[in-house]
Amino acid sequence: MSDADTLFERIIAREVPADIVHETETTLAFRDINPQAATHVLVVPKTRYRTVAELAAADPKLLADVIATADKVAELEGLTAGGYRVVFNTGSHAGQTVFHVHAHVLGGEQLGLFGRYQSEAG
Ligand code: AMP
Repeated sequence: MSDADTLFERIIAREVPADIVHETETTLAFRDINPQAATHVLVVPKTRYRTVAELAAADPKLLADVIATADKVAELEGLTAGGYRVVFNTGSHAGQTVFHVHAHVLGGEQLGLFGRYQSEAG
């Protein structure tokens, strides 16, 4: 990886604290610091790829591990019955701010529609 480490490498290395929900040999799940739903957990592969497409091309098994961990988080957090959403933001239009691929796992309440930008003023 040519650019500097991201925040998520520092969380994986336990250099930055996080509220860790689940860990496997290849993935780490921790609560989002700015939750967008009653439950909002991020799942990251311990190996860094910038985007989900890069991860899928380079290591499909690791992408499957990320999805399996997302489903495990849903089970641990009691989301399985009600359902949950998994989101991978890619690039600036999607609002990606951390360039270490991560799955957002959202649930715990009825989720709204998503897509077009809405300012906080509405
Ligand atoms: P994205 O916008 O898809 O790149 O998602 C990055 C996510 O990381 C955002 O939802 C942030 O709220 C979250 N985030 C930023 N800093 C931290 C942190 N220190 N611990 C947990 N989540 C964080």
